[in-house]
Amino acid sequence: MTNFAYRDDRLFVEGVAVAEIAATVGSPCYIYSKHTLYSAFRSFRDALGPEEGLICYAVKANGNLALLSALAGLGAGFDIVSQGELERVVAAGGDASRVVFSGVGKTEAEMRRALALGIHCFNVESLPELVRLNAIAEAMGLKAPVSLRVNPDVDARTHPYIATGLKENKFGLPIAEAVALYRKAASFRGLRFVGVDCHIGSQLTDLRPFADALDRVLPEVRRLREAGMDLEHIDVGGGLGICYQDETPPSVQAYVGLIKERLAAHGLGAMNILLEPGRALVAASGILVTGIEYVKETPDKRFAIVDAGMNDLIRPALYGAWQRIVPVRKRPDQELLYDVVGPVCESADVLGRGRSLAVKAGDFLAICDAGAYGFSMSSQYNARPRPPEVLVDGERFHVIRDRETYEDLMRGEHIPRS
Ligand SMILES: *Cc1c(COP(=O)(O)O)cnc(C)c1O
Repeated sequence: MTNFAYRDDRLFVEGVAVAEIAATVGSPCYIYSKHTLYSAFRSFRDALGPEEGLICYAVKANGNLALLSALAGLGAGFDIVSQGELERVVAAGGDASRVVFSGVGKTEAEMRRALALGIHCFNVESLPELVRLNAIAEAMGLKAPVSLRVNPDVDARTHPYIATGLKENKFGLPIAEAVALYRKAASFRGLRFVGVDCHIGSQLTDLRPFADALDRVLPEVRRLREAGMDLEHIDVGGGLGICYQDETPPSVQAYVGLIKERLAAHGLGAMNILLEPGRALVAASGILVTGIEYVKETPDKRFAIVDAGMNDLIRPALYGAWQRIVPVRKRPDQELLYDVVGPVCESADVLGRGRSLAVKAGDFLAICDAGAYGFSMSSQYNARPRPPEVLVDGERFHVIRDRETYEDLMRGEHIPRS
């Protein structure tokens, strides 16, 4: 986090004072550090080996075009879950041949568009989806590249909303069913089975579930390859966690090291590794800056009522997530305990509970590690225009998304004239 640091009492992102950005674009606003993003990508690239495998950034973590463009420039691929994300990647200059398409509900139109663009692989999650993709590819005279997403039924030991690798989850195919489908590959004339895929959840802070998943999936992959199937890659999905509070996630190096080690142990060291990191690439690159409108004291509590709400950053409300909250300008005063709450009319609209802060109305706060699942999960709930996004690059900053206007809020709506 050296790109987010205090100089004396003022918080900087790289070479720019956060207060200067807030004074220019207003609050709330998202601010990203380009160099933090770069170094996160580089840690994956270095761990994997300069020429090996494919790092497919999970676009749903943060789909801003400027970030996608920066990652594309570093040679990233992309993991998408909708045509909207595909169009974003294309608009950002991303290479469609480095795109993998995940998700349980791909529509016909989405499949056609992805096939026409020549994406790297479809991660297919059910038999009906496989049948649909086969028919569409055949009709287009193509062979769709496919990985089956296997559900290894392992406990990712993360929040239940972001665990995806248990058999009761909607994701993936049971291993036995996937193996049976691979063995029938020849009967799908519109498909080319090129890999195996597995994504077991998000914000994993322990290597154990990754190892368990690989140890369940890889023996089957080995048997399929021995039976003559030309499976080129193993897609391990995303899910590597970060430290929001006091978690101790494995390093990228340890994570990639484990994958290589398990592949080698199963005699599959020659397979290409495909990764789909989202959070681990962008979370630490971003903060959400918010201004304190009021300090409100009740007999029970002291509230800092801020101008960002759960519509701007939903993780605390949705997952009970904890994100560090720091002042943009440190005051020498004594710290007091505050609940940092937004203006949205929901009791869940709490960004942080019981935080020790020395602040006054009019001050700005920074909510840390907000680069992933921040803006991308934001909404206009309570008719609140979404905040702008700013990218800092050294001494300069760029507005990479304008604050929405009240016109934006009402765009496309019509009152029927009777
Ligand atoms: C969400 C998701 C990812 C990214 O997960 P992170 O925890 O952000 O790394 C990768 N692959 C798939 C299929 C996903 O749904």
